[in-house]
Amino acid sequence: MDELVAQVNHDESPTRSSAGWVEVIAGSMFSGKSEELIRRLRRAKIARQKVQVFKPEMDSRFSENQIVSHSEMRHDSANSRSAAEVLARVEPDTEVVGIDEGQFFDNELVNVANELARRGVRVIIAGLDQDYTGKPWEPMPQLLAIAEYITKTHAICMKCGQPANYSQRTFESEERVAVGASDKYEARCRRCFVPHADAPTVHV
Ligand SMILES: [Zn+2]
Repeated sequence: MDELVAQVNHDESPTRSSAGWVEVIAGSMFSGKSEELIRRLRRAKIARQKVQVFKPEMDSRFSENQIVSHSEMRHDSANSRSAAEVLARVEPDTEVVGIDEGQFFDNELVNVANELARRGVRVIIAGLDQDYTGKPWEPMPQLLAIAEYITKTHAICMKCGQPANYSQRTFESEERVAVGASDKYEARCRRCFVPHADAPTVHV
């Protein structure tokens, strides 16, 4: 990624004549997606680029007007009810658009990302790529397909310590969306993941 980032920075131009692009940061819960998104946004701001950040209105888990990582990194953001609203609120001189919790947006987010990139905007979207049963969580798969750059983040399996790619639910619910953190989910690898609720891992 460092090599890629160096290349990207080199190509960045203050004029809008250059083409934009789409970056997707995808992975399980506790894999550091928001942290990676915030890191990229902060770097853009250090370079005095105009940055706008959006998150779905439903995700008020930690803060109303900020995106917050599990490690308590924060970045100001605006709540948005739909992908169309994101597009409508992007200002003409904005150079970087960050979007957190992409899986909670509607499928129109794919067109919105393409449209912003076409206008010359660097679009960075973080999100869960699978739901609690291990199914791809749209629109993340579609976003991964259209993105120029993809970063897959991994957590560490709470059971065995291997790289984890799944979000294990530790409580019973059939709802696809059940917002919670370490009290309701844990990271698991493919071997330790079970596609239904499982008892929390206890280390003795
Ligand atoms: Zn495991």
